[in-house]
Amino acid sequence: MGTITFLGGTGTVTGSKYLFEQNTKRILIDCGLFQGLKALRQKNWMPLPLDVKTLDSVILTHAHIDHTGFLPRLVKQGYNGPVYANSATVDLLKIMLLDSAHLQEEDARFLNKIGATKHKPALPLYNKEDAEKAISLLKPVSYGQEFEPVPDITIKLRDAGHILGSSFVNIYWKNETGERRKIVFSGDLGRPDRPILKDPSTIYQADYLLVESTYGNRLHDDAQPEESLARIINDTIHRKGSVVIPSFAVGRTQELLYILRDLEEKKRIPELPVFVDSPMAINATEITSKHIENQDLNARLLHIKGIDAFRTKHTVFTESREESQKINDFSEPCIIISASGMLTGGRILHHLKYRLPFEKHTVLFIGYQAEGTRGRAMLEGKKKIKIHGEQIPVKAHIEKISGFSAHADYEEILAWLAGFTKAPRSVFVVHGEPGASADLAKKIKSVYKWTVHVPEYQSKFQLE
Ligand SMILES: [Zn+2]
Repeated sequence: MGTITFLGGTGTVTGSKYLFEQNTKRILIDCGLFQGLKALRQKNWMPLPLDVKTLDSVILTHAHIDHTGFLPRLVKQGYNGPVYANSATVDLLKIMLLDSAHLQEEDARFLNKIGATKHKPALPLYNKEDAEKAISLLKPVSYGQEFEPVPDITIKLRDAGHILGSSFVNIYWKNETGERRKIVFSGDLGRPDRPILKDPSTIYQADYLLVESTYGNRLHDDAQPEESLARIINDTIHRKGSVVIPSFAVGRTQELLYILRDLEEKKRIPELPVFVDSPMAINATEITSKHIENQDLNARLLHIKGIDAFRTKHTVFTESREESQKINDFSEPCIIISASGMLTGGRILHHLKYRLPFEKHTVLFIGYQAEGTRGRAMLEGKKKIKIHGEQIPVKAHIEKISGFSAHADYEEILAWLAGFTKAPRSVFVVHGEPGASADLAKKIKSVYKWTVHVPEYQSKFQLE
């Protein structure tokens, strides 16, 4: 008998973990870290309601830490089996899981230093060795390639169009009466017509479907982010200032570089130095260039013409700390792309310290800014921001472009669902804040008249 148990990604966009069971076989789809509020993060420390040694296999939809960051913890708890993912996801995880381990170790070190811990000493959720062990278990697969992680259960990944390597996971098995069944996990669902990425694949049929709902109750308001980007850059250059862009290293930075090169080629922006100041972003850009098979036709056309899609005329990748610091002395107008995307740490803070106090510069936000972050405070109009213990006046222009989202909004989700030629037996709406999931469920019921559930944390459903 088949069942599905929801071990994360319910009532929240983080911690995605879904357990698929068929008789004695157990497969975990995604192994995400809970992030954000403390009550959520504490769930990372709770034992999973299963003996991890009885798991046969893990399948990952994509590399984002909220879908993969629990993997080293699973390994620390004794999991030693295969972890399947698209080959680009595997390459991205080789850098992202080590970075995540580094952050876990830093957090523990910080708690010990300030003494803000009940546990003495505070321990990291996992360390570098656990991450390395997790990486050694990764098994790359291609889109469309069928594989059997356990006998009689077949799996196929399809392109989800969300970030490089992102996949829908399709699982096929036979029920008690010998009928073939199929369940599809959307992972994070991408959007149409985005640079580099292909559109999300069409799924024609599934008996059961898990669909994400990050934007289950919202629409992206900025249909053409390229236009806004060109305008903001030109305005800033006019003031002889520079544009500082806090960006997520994986996905967003590559998309941005691709668009900047295109705008420059079309002479919609002048030729400017573009600094990419984040080692992780530099690695992720290399991996993206390497995986030509995962790029859309436009990106591949550039490739066969010998054009580097991620490099404007004057792009400088600054790997070392010294190179990064040199950007502070650069007084000509330029574009600086650096992490972290929400200004919670990283090299971006140095750039802000130098440029925020001047009206001629622009800080441009292109990603979601969570509550409690410096990014959110700046968007809310705060006049001073604390960086490295100093109060820095915010005089630079603050701009925001929301159209760079990598998640489908509810109209795009409904459009994707329109590809289904018949109703699934059940749809499970997951990976959303409670309001977003409830709204999307309501919309799917009203548009398609399908049976829709919004599962709760640790709930279990039978698959007939
Ligand atoms: Zn994602």
